[in-house]
Amino acid sequence: VPELPEVEAYRALAGARALDRAVASVDAPDAWYLKGGLDAAVVAAALSGRRFTEARRIGKLLLLDTDGGDGPTLGLRFGMTGRLMVDGDAGVDGLLYTSKADRPEWDRFTVRFADGGRLRMQDPRRLGGVLLDPEEGLLGPDAASVTLAGLRAALGRSTSPLKARLMHQAHLAGVGNLIADEALWRAGLDPRRPAGGLTPAEVRRLHRHLLATIADLSTRGGSHMGDLLPHRRGGGACPRDGTPLVRATVGGRTTWWCPTHQD
Ligand SMILES: [Zn+2]
Repeated sequence: VPELPEVEAYRALAGARALDRAVASVDAPDAWYLKGGLDAAVVAAALSGRRFTEARRIGKLLLLDTDGGDGPTLGLRFGMTGRLMVDGDAGVDGLLYTSKADRPEWDRFTVRFADGGRLRMQDPRRLGGVLLDPEEGLLGPDAASVTLAGLRAALGRSTSPLKARLMHQAHLAGVGNLIADEALWRAGLDPRRPAGGLTPAEVRRLHRHLLATIADLSTRGGSHMGDLLPHRRGGGACPRDGTPLVRATVGGRTTWWCPTHQD
């Protein structure tokens, strides 16, 4: 599942390999994959003849700016199974819960460069999408670099479960299911608590662990490399204290936590 560390790897790949190459054409065979009223002819006309100038990321949204002063920004969302490929190389080796295979029928969107290379989105389950000039202001601050004040503002006075609020992209961008469970486990916080009910010390602890979790998982190679993950299954026990983990749906997502040290 591409979470922030995977999309950051895609950003790095695009930044290293896709910039300053003239776009010759665009293949957008899957109308479902084009979001916000976009169609294949419009996205092809918008990008053809341009070059990407910068690869940026806000949360799980990858942004590719184009040249010409008024060039559009291409926005790529990777959903549950999306991978970015440039000239046949992938940004990550593999993703949890999906195939590593590279099949032509999973090419949902392809930018062909004049030099013969291409940038592609492979997405077996088609839950990602392509946007033109996405509304960047709809996303909260990026979770990898959010400040303590930014996290405090994201939690606000919300009565939503803490985990749900962390994953709400309009308040904080980039936290997915695995990072949320890992960060809350490390911080010793129950994912069901009202988000606005944390003490100042708990918000500081969450901030520290959230940043460290994202940095660790990025270094280790992806969102599936957490300490909790191998135990996130029936019969799994907390790797810190051995307590059997509890599973429930929180914020619409399968959630695992330790009833002993997360409170
Ligand atoms: Zn525990």
